Amino acid sequence: MALQKCTVIGGCGFLGRHLVTMLLERGYQVNVFDIRQSWDNPKVRFFTGNLCKIEDLVPALEGVDVAFHCASPPYTSGDKKLFYNVNYLGTKNVIECCKKARVQRLVLTSSASVVYEGRDILNGTEELPYASKPIDYYTETKILQEKEVRKACQEKPDSDGNILLTVAIRPHGIFGPGDPHMLPTLVEMAKQGKSKFIIGNGKNLVDFTHVSNVVHGHILAAEALKVGSRVCGKAYHITNDEPIYF
Ligand code: NAD
Repeated sequence: MALQKCTVIGGCGFLGRHLVTMLLERGYQVNVFDIRQSWDNPKVRFFTGNLCKIEDLVPALEGVDVAFHCASPPYTSGDKKLFYNVNYLGTKNVIECCKKARVQRLVLTSSASVVYEGRDILNGTEELPYASKPIDYYTETKILQEKEVRKACQEKPDSDGNILLTVAIRPHGIFGPGDPHMLPTLVEMAKQGKSKFIIGNGKNLVDFTHVSNVVHGHILAAEALKVGSRVCGKAYHITNDEPIYF
């Protein structure tokens, strides 16, 4: 069945806005749900609200085939309570709201850091276990949210005949036009003279993925979510071809 209508939760963010643009190019009807509205497009229906509130979110999901959840407090906020409330409790609410609105597919933007234990990973696969000691609290809540979304995958119809197919996409650093996070941080650090140091032998690798690849991966995952598909309930790393020296 062709997917036609979708909601991008966090559609005013860096990744979410690129996702909306590619979805429109592919002929989808798009709703955006976000706590703030930072842009406009006559082809898009905007809903403003907090994803932690059922009454805010359900109206944005009604009549929708697929929900993309790419909302999160900024990594740099350092606010533990906010991370827990939005990433964990909020994601549980997203799942509940999808069920209430009978949305059948949910794609989560997770993070590759959910498998990072502080040791180098080269050619890591999705078989890696979740980090037993996540590198920070943000990552702890990304693990909690990913587990909830994967666990919520329900291919057999419930008593009301509803299903919910879920999948998680795990980028590491995302770059591209409009990036408000990584590039500005690097520039700021350079301005402060903090880019003159090398940790280790200078051959550390880090994985950055262009935002268009991350977005494409989300759409392919949504289109592959069907009953009986091996994608259901899984998590996928998303990357460019090669990691780069950092
Ligand atoms: P972003 O900060 O640019 O966008 C996040 C959006 O979520 C914002 O528009 C914000 O207003 C919205 N939001 C936050 N709290 C909300 C709430 N309670 N209710 C509704 N909307 C809310 O972030 P981004 O870089 O676009 O990241 C998108 C997703 O990708 C996040 O889940 C993030 O964890 C993940 N991710 C990002 C990177 C990266 O390098 N940017 C890397 C790995 C994973």
